Amino acid sequence: MTEIGHFIANAPLAGTSGRSQPVYNPATGQSNSSVALASAAEVDHAVALAVAAFPAWGRTPPLRRARILGKFKTMLETRADDLAKVISAEHGKTHDDALGEITRGLEVVEFAIGAPTLLKGEITENVGTGVDSHSMRQALGVVAGITPFNFPAMVPMWMFPVALACGNCFVLKPSERTPSAALMMAEWLAEAGLPEGVFSVVQGDREAVDRLLAHPDVKAISFVGSTPIARHVYTTGTANGKRVQALGGAKNHAIIMPDADLDMATDALMGAAYGSAGERCMAISVAVPVGEETANRLIEKLVPKIEALKIGPASDTATEMGPLVTAAHLEKVRSLVDKGEAEGAKLVVDGRGFAAPQGYEGGYFIGGTLLDNVTPDMTVWKDEIFGPVLSVVRAGDYKEAADIVAQHEYGNGVAIFTRDGNAARTFAQEVEVGMVGINVPIPVPMAFHSFGGWKASLFGDHHMHGPEGVRFYTRLKTITTRWPSGVPTAAEFVMPTMG
Ligand code: NAD
Repeated sequence: MTEIGHFIANAPLAGTSGRSQPVYNPATGQSNSSVALASAAEVDHAVALAVAAFPAWGRTPPLRRARILGKFKTMLETRADDLAKVISAEHGKTHDDALGEITRGLEVVEFAIGAPTLLKGEITENVGTGVDSHSMRQALGVVAGITPFNFPAMVPMWMFPVALACGNCFVLKPSERTPSAALMMAEWLAEAGLPEGVFSVVQGDREAVDRLLAHPDVKAISFVGSTPIARHVYTTGTANGKRVQALGGAKNHAIIMPDADLDMATDALMGAAYGSAGERCMAISVAVPVGEETANRLIEKLVPKIEALKIGPASDTATEMGPLVTAAHLEKVRSLVDKGEAEGAKLVVDGRGFAAPQGYEGGYFIGGTLLDNVTPDMTVWKDEIFGPVLSVVRAGDYKEAADIVAQHEYGNGVAIFTRDGNAARTFAQEVEVGMVGINVPIPVPMAFHSFGGWKASLFGDHHMHGPEGVRFYTRLKTITTRWPSGVPTAAEFVMPTMG
């Protein structure tokens, strides 16, 4: 049994808290390693090193910081396979899916390499006679990232490339279920030339998170995870005077209009509902076909594709969908399907009886599942299932469909499938959801835009990466300047105006 430790001061560091928990391979259900769970003292150690590193790092020319990120980007490109293997072994997602998340993270690194441009300020000459004014954005200091299990590389990369490019020092607390990808990235950052203390990985659970939320030297927290924890992180972090962006859970709907290209919509739903076993915050988990005929035709097209899904371990290159992340999560997903059936949904495809491939009987597998006649009073509609379960809520017309989306507490992503530009435009304008796809099922914004939901899917004022990321990790300073010019001055006791 190996212990997965921390990465502090550019080197691996074993845990000293005496607390750890097993890390499983979800395809086999076996555990060969455990992860250290940091104590408050271990968090304090990482933060102290970051505080010490900040003055020099914050003043390092942005171009030099960008060049270190440039070297890291090359490593991500040339060593992506190694990182993908580590992700698949702890998460269960397929190799290609893991490579996909690395690419999406790498795009944020590319964006962050533009730091010298991103950090440019503004200047106005002659705001008064002989007086100029300029504004600049400066780093906050030490910032922390707390990340979920489902994107062990991409979600940390939504955060740290932008934070580091802006001149902050970063402490990452990855998910204890998928802890190894963060360590690999930390090693590569050190190899790329990042000074000691600028980036650390502290493994842990609630104890480490609560210390980060309370630590007076941590100026900002970026969080991604489930809504109850996001709410806790936002409430506690802001009460302690920190800037917080806390991204939470999701229930993403896809409205399928009667004029939609149904083959296109079906393929889109297959990938978006069952890819990564539904363990994506941008997964489509509710289909809302408009009209009985649309619903019946959609289900007819979906069923054979769901039944034909190739489910297995990431090591099998034919696999389209892997296992769920833990035994406890498998149990939760199964019991939500049970509940859906008990509450009156029609089980069209039942994944609960899925037989794991030979040699993987201990893995956390479940088959693709389709529930029809789901209604907004059912638990399967209200709760985030985070598994390969698609619920169909039938709507009589567009208004009813839009109302179903509007009623949900979450507002992360949404999609509409239609050929009607006006319907799509009206929907995009009116829907209270942060990321909208028009005939695009998983509308994850590119790195140079920003990622974030609305309502209970995001607590805070800033989305992640892109221009919002730069704003989050910097604060504005405005400097007003007058130089002695020989023109006599006099004391003025009224509010200065620049007339
Ligand atoms: P989670 O909330 O269980 O864990 C997220 C992080 O919080 C982890 O680092 C974990 O160690 C920490 N944590 C867990 N319990 C805690 C507690 N009681 N106190 C303090 N910290 C705690 O989430 P998860 O299961 O790892 O990830 C899945 C969830 O993340 C889903 O709800 C999914 O929708 C969400 N997610 C959202 C986005 C988004 O962009 N909105 C992206 C990815 C995942």
